Amino acid sequence: MTAKSIIRIDSAPPRHWVGDGFHVHGMFSYNQDAHLYSPFLMLDYGAPYVCEPRDVANGATPRGVGSHPHRGFETVTIAYSGEVAHRDSSGGGGIIGVGDVQWMTAGSGLVHDEFHSKAFSKSGGIMHMVQLWVNLPAKDKMTKPGYQAITQAAIPQTMLDGASVRVIAGSHNAHDVQAKGAAKTFTPMNVWDVRIKAGQTMSLPQPDGWTTLLLVQSGKIAVNDSNEVGAAQLVMLSRSGTDVSITASQDTQLLLLAGEPIDEPVVGYGPFVMNTEQEIRQAFVDFNAGKFGQINE
Ligand code: MN
Repeated sequence: MTAKSIIRIDSAPPRHWVGDGFHVHGMFSYNQDAHLYSPFLMLDYGAPYVCEPRDVANGATPRGVGSHPHRGFETVTIAYSGEVAHRDSSGGGGIIGVGDVQWMTAGSGLVHDEFHSKAFSKSGGIMHMVQLWVNLPAKDKMTKPGYQAITQAAIPQTMLDGASVRVIAGSHNAHDVQAKGAAKTFTPMNVWDVRIKAGQTMSLPQPDGWTTLLLVQSGKIAVNDSNEVGAAQLVMLSRSGTDVSITASQDTQLLLLAGEPIDEPVVGYGPFVMNTEQEIRQAFVDFNAGKFGQINE
């Protein structure tokens, strides 16, 4: 086996607000170097921040993002702290809390909103979340919208000497423990929530040819022969090779994203990501004609 080499290490850019609810670092987006990140389109990292309580019982509105459309891909929201409530026009929705994941397939198109839950709005506290956009291959872009509500308890976990891998999607084999991810995906990928203790080294091999990314959320690690990588940094590894060896010098939490690239053109405009300009124009026509449906109040 050969090691995947480090292609680049990017520090988080300054945060921006998504609506008034999500204060995120845009770690990458399909607007730049889309082919390098495929099958992933976008990663917004909501590093921990304190939200003041809101008096929702007396008419204050929860923070968040109001109704907006998507077509042609999937949105994956992972909550580490705080609670996110979601509703969409295909009837999907629910509240995800600590450790939970919502995996929404926009497919042919839907409208949704994303807010802090009422309970979290009322209590306030630390919001810490990730939103990942996963592309769909051309043949599945117009698939029926879908929604997977994945609770913490449904996410398999492998443990080794105090280090853990929560397998949100894909599969992980370690020391005769095999874990298969909770999420159903359209193309092969691994989405793992990884925790490593200071002083530990962990091997997390990924298939040759796959895009491989590590978002360090807290702590400090070296990856293969890299210098140290710290909180809110994103490591891109080469597609060639398989070995990924992580040594933690502090207790570390990271998100591993690896996937088989989708070798197709990416043409997007905001919340629509398709393969051609014509398909983007059609998305606007269909959305304006009301074909994405509406959220039932
Ligand atoms: Mn959205």
